[in-house]
Amino acid sequence: MLTGEIRGSVTERQINKAVIDQMYAEGFLYAKYGAYARRTHGFKIFKVPMNGGFTCPNWDGRISSEGCIYCPDFARQFTYESFRCVISKDIRAQVAHQIDYYKKKGAGKKAIVYIAFGTNTYAPVEDLRKIYDATLDHPDVIGLSIGTRPDCLPPEVLDLLAEYVDEGYEIWVEIGQQSVHYHTTESTHRGHGSAEFFRAVRECRKKNILSMVFLIMGLPYETPSEMVETARIVSEAGVDALKLYPLLVMHNTKLSVDYYSGRYRPISLTEYASIIADFLENLSPHVVVQRISKDCGLDGKVAPEWDTHRFLVGPMVDKILTLRGTRQGCRYKMGLSADELLPLQKASVVPEGL
Ligand code: SF4
Repeated sequence: MLTGEIRGSVTERQINKAVIDQMYAEGFLYAKYGAYARRTHGFKIFKVPMNGGFTCPNWDGRISSEGCIYCPDFARQFTYESFRCVISKDIRAQVAHQIDYYKKKGAGKKAIVYIAFGTNTYAPVEDLRKIYDATLDHPDVIGLSIGTRPDCLPPEVLDLLAEYVDEGYEIWVEIGQQSVHYHTTESTHRGHGSAEFFRAVRECRKKNILSMVFLIMGLPYETPSEMVETARIVSEAGVDALKLYPLLVMHNTKLSVDYYSGRYRPISLTEYASIIADFLENLSPHVVVQRISKDCGLDGKVAPEWDTHRFLVGPMVDKILTLRGTRQGCRYKMGLSADELLPLQKASVVPEGL
């Protein structure tokens, strides 16, 4: 809804590659979101989680009534400490409380509200408009980051989000894809494949909506090579940012049944850190990395037994990359270059007459 008046503060529309290149020149091993956001905005920003009261088509029966095999009551257990006391309050009250809480902790100057629980684009467009308008109705909010599924971004919803972009807000869509391998999305009962993800990223890009993808490492039957290949595939899809997590086994999920019966074995901390290092090396250098582990909402965690906090995992990944002398993007490549197309045996033959 363009009113002739800019409501937002005209923030990010696309990733600034020059800023990321400068970060590498300063010694960053990967494009860390916090540092990147501070440089591009010129001040510290913070994200606050908010509950818009959404359900999910993989729970309410539209796609399935069972949910993904690892989903505990569509993520309602994944709450932040600051958030528990307001989770059922009116949207404006939640946002005000969260911003006050984080500002008192020195989190930053302006906030992006992360609509976090369930599928937060899964409602009629006019209902979405009311929820998003209420969320943006705070002087310190510069944008939204909306968690959703790749199959829940129809053209009308993207058009609505594009209106907020035009009004000067920074709009992110956080796409819960988790894996780009079809056998994994099928065996984990996602109810969608990878085609929806590619379309969602492409359509977001056309409308200057920033896209972020959630990916889980350690999903059942997915090999380390597949996890690393995912880095190249999401880079090629054109995502702007990503969040990486280890697969958590939570109470009262189908995955917990597989875990207790021995059919699912979580990856170890060492395996995880090594996969994340490999993943980052194979990722485009210009994809911003928002998280590489899981450190909130761990109530009800059954496995893995190791501490998944980023303060433990982050330094391990840094150490691996430092010891290898590598960084994000150093192995990002799709196929052979033109120089490499000469077959090896022919390349070693000296042409006659020379
Ligand atoms: S898409 Fe998300 S909210 Fe829906 S069932 Fe799967 S994990 Fe839960």
